[in-house]
Formats: sequence, C-alpha cells, structure tokens
Amino acid sequence: MSVLNNLGTSIQYLSGVGPKRAELLRRELGIETLSDLISLYPFRYIDRSGITPIAEIQSTAASVQIRARVLSRTLLGPSGAVISQLTQPIHFNAAKRLSVVVEDASGSIELVFFKGIKWNFTQLVPGSEFIFFGKPQAFNGRLNMVHPEVDPARNEPAGVGALTGVYTSTEKLKAGGITGKVMCKMQAAALSLCLPEIEETLPDYLLQSKGLVSLRFALKNIHFPADTSALEKAQRRLKYEELFLLQLSLLKQKFVRSRGEKGFVMSKVGADWHACYNALPYSLTGAQQRVIKEIRADLMSGSQMNRLLQGDVGSGKTMVAVLSCLLAVGSGYQTCIMAPTEVLARQHFNNIQKYLAPTTVKSAILTGSSTTKQRRETLAGLADGSIGIIVGTHALLEDNVIFANLGLAVIDEQHRFGVDQRAKLWAKNTIAPHVLVMTATPIPRTLAMTLYGDLDVSVIDEMPPGRKPVKTICIGENKRRAMYNFMKEEIAKGRQVFVVYPLIFESEKLDLQNLEKGYEDILQAFPMPEYKVAIVHGQQSNEEKNFNMSAFAAGRAHILVSTTVIEVGVDVPNASVMVIESAQRFGLSQLHQLRGRVGRGSDESYCILMKDVKTSREAQQRLDLMCRTEDGFAIAEEDMKMRGPGDLEGTAQSGLPISLNIASLARDGILLSEARADAIDVLQSDPLLERPENQRLSKELKKNKYDIKDYSKIS
Ligand code: ADP
Ligand code: MG
Repeated sequence: MSVLNNLGTSIQYLSGVGPKRAELLRRELGIETLSDLISLYPFRYIDRSGITPIAEIQSTAASVQIRARVLSRTLLGPSGAVISQLTQPIHFNAAKRLSVVVEDASGSIELVFFKGIKWNFTQLVPGSEFIFFGKPQAFNGRLNMVHPEVDPARNEPAGVGALTGVYTSTEKLKAGGITGKVMCKMQAAALSLCLPEIEETLPDYLLQSKGLVSLRFALKNIHFPADTSALEKAQRRLKYEELFLLQLSLLKQKFVRSRGEKGFVMSKVGADWHACYNALPYSLTGAQQRVIKEIRADLMSGSQMNRLLQGDVGSGKTMVAVLSCLLAVGSGYQTCIMAPTEVLARQHFNNIQKYLAPTTVKSAILTGSSTTKQRRETLAGLADGSIGIIVGTHALLEDNVIFANLGLAVIDEQHRFGVDQRAKLWAKNTIAPHVLVMTATPIPRTLAMTLYGDLDVSVIDEMPPGRKPVKTICIGENKRRAMYNFMKEEIAKGRQVFVVYPLIFESEKLDLQNLEKGYEDILQAFPMPEYKVAIVHGQQSNEEKNFNMSAFAAGRAHILVSTTVIEVGVDVPNASVMVIESAQRFGLSQLHQLRGRVGRGSDESYCILMKDVKTSREAQQRLDLMCRTEDGFAIAEEDMKMRGPGDLEGTAQSGLPISLNIASLARDGILLSEARADAIDVLQSDPLLERPENQRLSKELKKNKYDIKDYSKIS
C-alpha cells in the first residue's frame, strides 16, 4: 500500500527551498512541514484586478497597477551623474540607481530601482510593455514608484488570480530571498502536492446545513482566491471550523463530566439563609437575584457546579458569595472562601461578619499569619464541622486543613490561583465540592466562552443603585499644580487620594525610581505634619505592605502612593480621588480596575489620568475611552479589539486553550456563537462522538492541539 505523506514532508524538499531556507522558515515562522506551510494563510490580499491610468494615480494610494511602455532608462552614479550606455561594456558596478520612464495613453511616470539594476536595465528595453505594481509616492513634487513589481504584459494582469495574498514576513526572510513572490510560489507548489491528501474534517451534514465549502476548496482559495466571493467562502469555512472544533472539545469535557461527575445535592434553604436575607439593608439587584437562582439550581442539580461569576468591582459579588455559602450550610455542608492575598481575605472576613450577624453560622479566618493558637482552634472547628464558613488564603490548601464536610468552595480572583493549588482543594472531600469562581475582570463574552468553554458563566451586569459615576479626566504635566490643589481641596473635605504609578516588569528598578521620585514630589507638595502620605510597592515585605495599606484604609494617611499592588484590592470607601501617573502606559482593563477603587462611597469621586507628552495615538484612544465610559464590559470588548485577546489582562496568565489561526474572538463573535450552538447540538445527541457521521470530528479532537487542559478540574 502506498501511503502518500506530502503533508508531513519537511519543507526543505520543496523545490526552491533547500536546507538553508528551510532553517530560516523554521526559525522565523515555525514552519517545518508542508502542512505547516499551507496553514500559514495570507493576512491580507492585494487586489490586482484593475489597471490605473498613469494620469489618475494618487500619491496616497497604498498600491497601484499600471500597464505601460518603457520610454527611456538612465543609469546614475553616486553623485547623480549619468553613466554612459554607449561605452561597452556598460559600467553597471558604478551605477547606484536606475531611473526608468514609462508611459501609457494618459501620461508618464518615473520608476526607480536601487537594487537589481543590471537585471532590470536588461529587461526594461525601451518600447516594450509591462505591468508594474507598486506604491506610488510624491518626490520633489512629482510622482514616482520605487521598486515596483515587474511582470510581462499579457492580456491579463499578473498574479495567479486577481487577488494576491500577502503573507507575514520578516526582515530576515526577505534578506534570505523569501520575498512575497517566492512565498506565493512555495505555497502554490506545496498546495499542488498536498491538496489531494487533504481530508475533510467536518461531517457532511454540517457542511450542508451551514452551507460551508469543502476543506480543499477553502485551502486552495484562501491562498489563491478565484475571486472575492470564493475568498469569503474560504474564510468563513476555515474560521467556522476553527471555532467549532475548539468549542466542541471544550464542551465535550463538560458533557462527559456532567453525566459522570456527581455533586452534593443541597436542597434545603434553611433558617440562616432567611435570617441573612431578611436583614439585608437593601434589596438585591435584578442581576444578583438572577445569579443566585442560577447557583441554587446548580447546587440542587446533583452534578458538580463549576461556575464563573463575573461582575465589575462594586457590583455586589460578596453578598452573592455569602448567600451561596448559606445555601450550602443550610443543607449541612461547610464552605470556604479563598482570596489571593492576606489583605483581601481579611477584608472579606470583616465584610462577611455584617451579613452573618443575624445568623447562627460560625465563621473563621485562616491565613499565613494566624497564630498557633488561632490555627489550632480553627482546625478543630473545621474538623468537627462547627465552622460553617472559613475565609482564607492559600493556607486553606495545606494538607493539615481537614474539613468534616466541605461542600462549596468560593474562589475570589481566580487567576491568582495556580493549577496545583486548585487540585488540592478538589481532594478535600469524598467527591469534589461545588466551585464558584469570582472575578472582577470583565471578560468579553466571546473570550469567556473560549477561555472557560466548559464553565458555566454568570454575569452581574448591573450596579447597585445609588452609585455615582466616577468623573474621569485626562490631563498633561502642565496641569500638575492644579491637580495638587484639587487633591488638597478633597483632603480638606476629609477624603483620601490614591496615586498610582505604572509597573513594567522588564525594568523593576526603573519603575521603583519613578515611584520614589513621585513620592518625593508628593511629599514636597504635601508636607508633614499637615499631610500624611503612605507608600506601598512590590519590593516591600508583606508586613510593610500590610502596615501601610492598613494605615491608609483606617484613614491615618491622606494619600497612598503605590504601584498597581492595590489593583485587586482594598476597599476604602472614603477615598474619592484616583490619580494614575503615566496613564498611557496602562492597559484598558488595568485602568478600569484602578478606577473601580474609588466611587465606592456616597461622595462624588474622580479619576485623573495623567499622561506624558509621549503618548501615542493608540494610548490616547484608550484614555479617551476611559473618559467616555465606565462600563467594564464595553471597555473589555474595546480592549480586545485594540490589542487582541491574547494580551488581555486576566487572560495572559491563563492563556487561550489553543491559538487561533484565522478566526478572531474580537471580530467573529457571531460565528463563534453559531459554532458553539452547533457544538452543543452535536454533543446533545452524541456526547462521546461515537456515531459514524461524527467520526471525522472524533478524529480531529484526538489531534494534539485539542488536548486542552480540563478547566473543570482546576478551577
Ligand atoms: P464586589 O465584590 O462585586 O466588588 P461588593 O460585594 O463588595 O462588590 O459590594 C460593593 C458594595 O455594594 C458593598 O458596600 C455592598 O454592601 C453594596 N451592595 C451590594 N449589593 C447591593 C445592593 N443590591 N444594593 C445596594 N448596595 C449593595
Ligand atoms: Mg469584592
């Protein structure tokens, strides 16, 4: 039996490549096999279907194609002196530039070549006609084109089709001779070898119902589109496939789990829940009610809950967490609330006391700094089941922390917890406890579907009433004095101020210098003893940090100067001003998180974005957006559009399960929703993908790239 395997063949055996270029392609683009090569799709296409009359060329056009006859050619030396074409042989070596004038019926234009002078001189014989393609530019008040592509004038324009693909390239690739044209040739050669081997990956019933083209058609046309419509069909097919298979693999785990993984059934609501609920000083927002219903349904379902709770800072997640815990306690289970830092754990613990006061539920806190005596008591209370809600840090994960009956774990700010740590939590009862992960980092819906494809997602998309918007302005250095005066006015009213400096990891030392210089400035403008200024940064010990942070939280300092350590952090309702220094250096979601630190009390509050003169246009767009909206989801969507999903905060650590080759979470939201719905349909009727018509899918999912971490086990 002869087995064709061109797809797996090393790129070096492709005609015109060889070991040297193969090494270059591997290093620069990670391409090793023909299959890798044809998976590199053009990132844009140049339309070479039209010919522009020379007289109509605009200097601003990105590219033009002309059909013109050579009028004259001139070789120029270093000082611009003309090199004679009459002396034989011609001194090509002395030529620095070749100037060629070409004309069509409408006019003439100069073409300039600095390289390949001899070759171009020889082919561009006066009187002969060519197709030239390049970028026009204005030079000394006249138009010219430098290094246009030259093709013989046939009846049709050059290129395989009217649309020519443009591939990612690098300086090194170009220097190594792999130009756009060469890349196109390689792709053409690879495709002709590989296309016969390409097997369809999607079932026929899906291709039909979705009106998708075959994989072969798609691959051919993504590289060499027959026309615009064929290109669109190819793109749609390839994007859909990518999104669909990713969703299928994520959801398959979830389907399998929810049939297999049992969960504790918590069906009683209990007197403590009612006592807490009835004593609330306000009514729940619609969003809080909805989310609590969703959680309640999970806790009663008999399957293990894995739910992500998203809600902006201040949206009231804590209360949802407490009410969820009380549901579990009411059914006889213990619960834990885990926070990433000691400060946050303490804050949670203190907040929770208010909610628990009307109940009989016993709560406790366990952190790294619990004393031996406290620790002993707490461990005993956990082991004998008397503690209903334990709040803590990673300290809760230690092996000697034994629960009588842990039924629900609430994890705040999930991305600070590592995989191993969550696995430890998992092992704390005979079957896995229910898990509720809370995050204040709004994630765009499309990203959440992908990042947490197998988690259920609840969103609190409504703020408690009465929150005043945070007035946000963006100013430059020239307004610093005015800003200091404004800060003084606010402090005189009894308010407090955050001043935040950026922290860029590559240059921690420099950042610290910035921070310290800023701190000096502030100390000068806000002298002791009238003003008290606290400082917090990453180089301090935990004790120092806690000390300074608590001083500010307790109102003993007027100003807190810090790096972004306060980002996910303390609640100081009395703070009314957030000053962000070098704001252009922060990402959107970071800015949003920081701003969320103020506006928590009933006072009017302010966010002042201080920008440097060197603010790029892109950064200015971010700052403008901040001034325009406070909607965390809108900001996250925008952030994703500007920077791509991979760079979003909160996702950088966890990462997308696979990297997308052609689909974009920022642009293909609708297609993603379709793909997800289709994946659910398929799995509902065939959860293990055992049916004959789903064999292609089953085979695809076995490929390495879909070997996705099972998030359900870790979060
Ligand atoms: P998050 O944890 O989402 O940042 P919190 O749970 O800390 O938000 O709530 C922020 C503030 O809003 C708290 O002071 C809380 O008491 C208050 N709050 C929560 N829910 C409501 C509500 N439904 N109505 C009014 N205030 C609320
Ligand atoms: Mg909170």
